[in-house]
Amino acid sequence: MAHASALCAVRAISGPLDACAGAAYVDCMSDFDCIIVGAGAAGIAAGRALARAGKSFVLLEARQRSGGRAHTTLAAGMALDMGCGWLHSADRNLLVGLAQESGFAIDRQTPPWQKTADARGFDADAQRAYRAEQGRFFARVETEAKKGVDRPVSELLDPDARWTPLVEAMSTYVNGTETDRLSLLDFAAYEDTEINYRLPEGYGALVSRLGADLPVRHGCLVRLIDHGARPMRVETNLGVLRARAVIVTVPTSALANGSLRFRPALPARVEAAAMLPLGIADKLFLALDDAEEFAIDSRLYGAIDTSATANYHVRPFGRPVIEAYFGGQFARELESGGMAAFADFAIGQLVGVLGADFARRVRPIACSAWASDPLALGSYSHALPGHAGARAILGAPQGEGLFFAGEAVSPHVFSTAHGAWETGEEAASAALAVLK
Ligand SMILES: Cc1cc2nc3c(=O)[nH]c(=O)nc-3n(C[C@H](O)[C@H](O)[C@H](O)COP(=O)(O)OP(=O)(O)OC[C@H]3O[C@@H](n4cnc5c(N)ncnc54)[C@H](O)[C@@H]3O)c2cc1C
Repeated sequence: MAHASALCAVRAISGPLDACAGAAYVDCMSDFDCIIVGAGAAGIAAGRALARAGKSFVLLEARQRSGGRAHTTLAAGMALDMGCGWLHSADRNLLVGLAQESGFAIDRQTPPWQKTADARGFDADAQRAYRAEQGRFFARVETEAKKGVDRPVSELLDPDARWTPLVEAMSTYVNGTETDRLSLLDFAAYEDTEINYRLPEGYGALVSRLGADLPVRHGCLVRLIDHGARPMRVETNLGVLRARAVIVTVPTSALANGSLRFRPALPARVEAAAMLPLGIADKLFLALDDAEEFAIDSRLYGAIDTSATANYHVRPFGRPVIEAYFGGQFARELESGGMAAFADFAIGQLVGVLGADFARRVRPIACSAWASDPLALGSYSHALPGHAGARAILGAPQGEGLFFAGEAVSPHVFSTAHGAWETGEEAASAALAVLK
């Protein structure tokens, strides 16, 4: 009941802002308790917490939709996640409970990377050898990280060893980057219980559903936050708004490249954001004819001797589809050729593994391009070598009312939607303490 009335209050407050849509206006509305910049997972989590507390607030979102890097699109009648898809660490992921409450079905099948892959192109003995080497690699990461000295993860790999290209490829999927740009201490700090669920209706659909009752001003690009003023002033393409607290949830790219600025300037924080760049992960979906030939949730390797390779999840949810995953510099380069470049590459690899006729059975239906997305400029953050401490710098509160949230400030579950969600809730708690 308290929750419902709080939402009514903020809807009423969001009215004047909506009325100003598209117009150049300045200070045309009352002050807010809090302004949230960005309506992705972190911003929505923060908004829900403020709504529960009955505060006046608004989310300012530059896109014409909520969800940010959590985005489900519809293609060939299927809900396809272009950003996050897996509820990682599902046994302690807050979004699992929220999905259940929201009536979303949950798929608990073992993910393909935890099973033996299709032997075509990667025979079972070779897979065993690779998995053993992967295990040794993770053990080295743990041992070396305990020494507390940060360095590139690449120093833990023998460049000439048999499985190094595939370990590199795995890093591009997991971290969005090659290991020479990956901080050992940050990589080792990531926590994962290895329980992974999925949502047939889409993870992006869940995140935006959870924000559906919040007052979001779409198409509102925040350019400057004057945190020296009282109340703070937030300058946007639609005018100036004021609030006693501001929660910033934009990706590190927007802070590092100065598209969102601060007055007074925050050089240490901007430098921290630059040390947490977004790596690249992209997905291509291929519709698949005669899909029954493949096991549900199976996996195909396109190549095993190069890091510039895609990984193929076949029949997710039993659907007649292949979800191809691309990462790192290789994905960034393919983006310049659009969906056709991803499809050419993927179909070429699949034909190499499954035979020339296979080309007739697949056709591209959707593709992401996160490096080219101006409001993301990448997929998820990783720390550069020597900068494992950057997440703490970026996430520390500023003064009496400016807070930072988003996946990049999570100390142990960065690069995920549930990590972003947790940081949004934490930033809202800190803002509420100030607002008291
Ligand atoms: C291909 C891919 C696969 C992924 N897979 C998984 C997965 O399986 N599981 C998982 O947990 N995570 C996954 N992730 C990561 C996950 O999607 C993100 O970590 C999470 O969604 C980030 O949420 P956020 O709120 O921190 O940032 P965002 O979602 O980026 O939200 C920030 C918002 O701020 C807005 N914004 C930016 N600049 C401005 C501005 N100046 N003014 C106003 N608004 C602005 C943006 O438009 C955006 O909506 C994946 C991501 C990608 C791209």
